[in-house]
Amino acid sequence: MPYLHAPEDLGELLEGEPRFRVDQLRDWLYKTPVLQTEDMTNLPQEVRSRFSDRLWPFTVEVEQSADSGTTRKWLFRAPDGAAIEAVLMGYPRRATLCISSQAGCALGCTFCATGQFGFERHLEPGEIFAQVAYAQAFLRQIGMPGVPDHLTNVVFMGMGEPLANYNRVREAIRRMVEVMGLSARAITVSTVGIVPGIKRLAEDPWPVYLAISLHAADNELRTSLVPINKRYPLEMLVAAAWEYFEKKGRRLSIEWTMMDGVNDTDDQATKLAVIANRLRAHVNLIALNPTPLTEETASPERRIEGFARLLANHGVNVTIRNTRGREIDAACGQLRIVAGKSGIAG
Ligand code: SAH
Ligand code: SF4
Repeated sequence: MPYLHAPEDLGELLEGEPRFRVDQLRDWLYKTPVLQTEDMTNLPQEVRSRFSDRLWPFTVEVEQSADSGTTRKWLFRAPDGAAIEAVLMGYPRRATLCISSQAGCALGCTFCATGQFGFERHLEPGEIFAQVAYAQAFLRQIGMPGVPDHLTNVVFMGMGEPLANYNRVREAIRRMVEVMGLSARAITVSTVGIVPGIKRLAEDPWPVYLAISLHAADNELRTSLVPINKRYPLEMLVAAAWEYFEKKGRRLSIEWTMMDGVNDTDDQATKLAVIANRLRAHVNLIALNPTPLTEETASPERRIEGFARLLANHGVNVTIRNTRGREIDAACGQLRIVAGKSGIAG
């Protein structure tokens, strides 16, 4: 499984072959990924066949399509049974891939499907990167109607908390930026607020975008929705986010999942405006997507608009995110539902 070797260690797979063969393989894996080894046209059959049945570190268990073919969700399955989900969303000038950093998540945010099913394991750098390579190969070789033939954005908004798996996520980002050649500006790390992880990300050389999943603007409410807030309360989180902004000069974003009667009040909007203004952050409002164990329901559309207006009146830059792939459970926080329901998730 070549993606489980670091790009620098591919020689191990091609013992006895000249250096240029190793470089060719590296380019097929990292620069112009292909769906199958047969497509690695300049490698001799004998060399390709060494890993032809195990190019990917997972099998494609489910592939679903929605939004007239411009949204695609994959459920990949690692040999040990771990489920890895990725969602590709195509637009006229953009192709955004949402990737997973862990199988499951240990942080248990009440409204999130991934959190509700608990933690399985961390994903390896190669498993994280292979999601990107797979989508890149898909766009190049199969494509989506009216969508660019390559990824323009990668967001860590699938399953798992990227900053709770820092070293592996870091290595995956290194491969995306330094080996694949993706701009750091094309990458967004979304975190629920692991403060030491934000600090480490700030120390790393790549100016990736940071999204903070805030959901509540006071500690009491936030701790009830996002248990890790007890360990890293709002003041710490806001300070770390500001530090990141100052260091990288990248505009922060704040994610806010709108729950009816929970965090969609004028009071929360006013408090959120203070935080967003202090951080000069952009706010994304996302209507709650239903999950099996969530009692909360999405805020009505009119309330979301009212909440957005209130923020805007306070000078906050705000967008209401429209949801992709809802009918295939590919929307935020819904990953893992189908697998969980049918009992096939490891
Ligand atoms: N663990 C990271 C990244 C994965 S979650 C984080 O929490 O940021 C990606 C985004 O989906 C987060 O902003 C998260 O709050 C949001 N989300 C989770 N469950 C959701 C749901 N049921 N409906 C809408 N958004 C949800
Ligand atoms: Fe984990 Fe993010 Fe879901 Fe919270 S919202 S349980 S941190 S994946």
